[in-house]
Amino acid sequence: MRLIDGNAIAQQVLAEVKARAANLAPIVPHVAFVRVGEDPASVSYVAKKQKTAAEVGMKASLTVFPSDVSKAELFAHLDALNADASVHGILIQAPLPKHLPETEVFNRVSPAKDVDGFSTQSIGRLVQELPGAFAACTPAGVIELLRRSGVETAGKHAVVVGRSLIVGKPAAALLLAKGCDCTVTIAHSKTRDLAAVVRQADIVVAAIGRPRFITADMVKSGAVVIDVGINRVPDATKKAGYRIVGDVDFDAVSPKCEAITPVPGGVGPMTVAMLMMNTLTACERARG
Ligand code: NDP
Repeated sequence: MRLIDGNAIAQQVLAEVKARAANLAPIVPHVAFVRVGEDPASVSYVAKKQKTAAEVGMKASLTVFPSDVSKAELFAHLDALNADASVHGILIQAPLPKHLPETEVFNRVSPAKDVDGFSTQSIGRLVQELPGAFAACTPAGVIELLRRSGVETAGKHAVVVGRSLIVGKPAAALLLAKGCDCTVTIAHSKTRDLAAVVRQADIVVAAIGRPRFITADMVKSGAVVIDVGINRVPDATKKAGYRIVGDVDFDAVSPKCEAITPVPGGVGPMTVAMLMMNTLTACERARG
């Protein structure tokens, strides 16, 4: 079994981003974060992304709105960011309050600045395999992990468990696209005999949101397993009272695998790294 080290691969990506960003001087790539409300996970995700941006020589601004902000006020801010030539990427941290429909909000971002890749334009361009589409950062990170750890994908059967807009669907589109060339199955909560479906996979991408859901009997020997899951499970030995585990039962599954990502230290760091890469790309394109 080979461990796919997401921390090390993310550091490689970030070093490349830093070098390319320095080449753009005096232009500084700038990602503008927008947060609505004080959801603790959102606060910590945005802070982490801002810290990483600073480390690679990028500017990261943040605007925080109260959770009762009107759609009109939020849209006016997004319009101003779209029009501001010094802003290259815009990221609206989900989840949003119920009165702000996510698709409508994501679609307000100019496609050239949609570094999160969640707008209808970006997803359409991704599926059409048009150049220049920004892929959502987590699935883009999954592909980068496979590529940089030398996993052969062409002709392999990839089973993606999960069909969310954020992870499952774009991951499947990227695995299917020319260059990756996988045969792709997407499974979800209505899939019949999920274990039998996952057992066919040469590559398993688990994006379910259930701790240790993928068990050893569901994975064939020699498979490559990418675990996107981030789940809190109670752990009295930890100061916080919990620890983070993935969607894969790592201890039982890993001995059967050709390669596997750990949680934490797998896909998580790649999500942040790919956001920096997308912002850099947006800046390079804006510069021409
Ligand atoms: P969602 O809840 O949006 O989607 C979960 C998917 O899993 C759904 O498609 C659902 O099916 C499917 N599912 C749920 N239960 C089952 C089941 N019993 N059998 C088969 N499929 C099932 O989650 P996300 O895609 O947003 O996130 C998935 C995981 O990835 C979470 O743990 C999340 O924390 C993590 N994550 C990690 C990131 C990172 O940076 N590493 C970034 C984003 C997410 P259905 O559609 O039928 O309901």
